[in-house]
Amino acid sequence: MEDCIIIGGGPAGLTAAIYLARYHLDIRLFDCGTSRAALIPCTHNHAGYPDGIAGTELVERMRRQAEKYGARREEKRVEKLERDEEGFRVHAQGQVFRARSVLLATGVFNLHPPGMDDALHDEALRRGALRYCPVCDGYEVTDKRVGVIGTRQHGTAETLFIRTFTRDLTLIAPDAEHDLDAECITSLDEAGVARVDGPCGRYRLEGDRLAVETARGWMSFDSVYPALGSHIRSELAVALGARANEDGRLEVSDHLETSVRNLFAAGDVVEGLDQISNAMGQAGVAATRIRNRLAEERAVWR
Ligand SMILES: Cc1cc2nc3c(=O)[nH]c(=O)nc-3n(C[C@H](O)[C@H](O)[C@H](O)COP(=O)(O)OP(=O)(O)OC[C@H]3O[C@@H](n4cnc5c(N)ncnc54)[C@H](O)[C@@H]3O)c2cc1C
Repeated sequence: MEDCIIIGGGPAGLTAAIYLARYHLDIRLFDCGTSRAALIPCTHNHAGYPDGIAGTELVERMRRQAEKYGARREEKRVEKLERDEEGFRVHAQGQVFRARSVLLATGVFNLHPPGMDDALHDEALRRGALRYCPVCDGYEVTDKRVGVIGTRQHGTAETLFIRTFTRDLTLIAPDAEHDLDAECITSLDEAGVARVDGPCGRYRLEGDRLAVETARGWMSFDSVYPALGSHIRSELAVALGARANEDGRLEVSDHLETSVRNLFAAGDVVEGLDQISNAMGQAGVAATRIRNRLAEERAVWR
């Protein structure tokens, strides 16, 4: 019986592992190796790294720090969670593990531009020609030529967010035509955002720029942001009855506990700002709450 099983080894899961291991708790951390942080070529908004740091290096440093206190990442995909009288049963690749508490730090997966193959996707990301997070890197596109693939309210909101960084903005419909209500159209017009129809499906790199084929032919941008939504990896918790919003983001208390007792969640899988600092902060709060809960239940006295 573990004190806690952490599912997910990105910034949230690893921060929780460091805290819990340093609280002398018995933990395991299962991770299937698809952290969004690994997609960050170089983060410039994460405090403490004035020259920036690659997402892979940051995660590797966190792993080493967790290992120093005995918390090792195990490469396993968790397939199912069940409750029992004493806690949880965690099913991973044919094995069942038991824990008094579980912390879900499984993150989200951004939907990719339609028809873009993985090799082009990863290379465009590496060059900064494709970006996913204007909160993170809007600064880097200041006064640049930017395309946003999206429509409806989500595409409009993302485009207007980027408008404070650059005026040269085009909203590209992923499908044949835009689907925008009058309010969206007014906001986009007031902000001077150009609109073109799609469908999107063909792309090419032109040096460090990304060209997108649209209804008006090929258009080239310094950076393109897909605004197509995300898949929220909250299914394990939702299947246990944890409450989530309509997108699938988990609802949590101030101490990051889901609506299922002793099932906690932190990071992108929880509603909030999709940022490393937020994931780390939530994980620290959740880990301390887990420690305090288990101490109340007298499960962790030395
Ligand atoms: C291109 C890009 C650039 C970004 N730039 C920045 C930036 O500059 N600054 C910033 O603060 N943020 C940035 N972000 C956002 C940042 O990466 C995320 O906010 C952060 O990684 C969230 O951490 P997390 O631990 O919640 O989730 P993740 O890092 O996504 O980790 C979740 C982990 O859970 C694992 N997992 C999922 N399901 C299972 C399962 N069933 N069993 C086992 N393991 C599982 C996954 O494999 C993954 O390793 C960027 C994101 C992208 C995509």
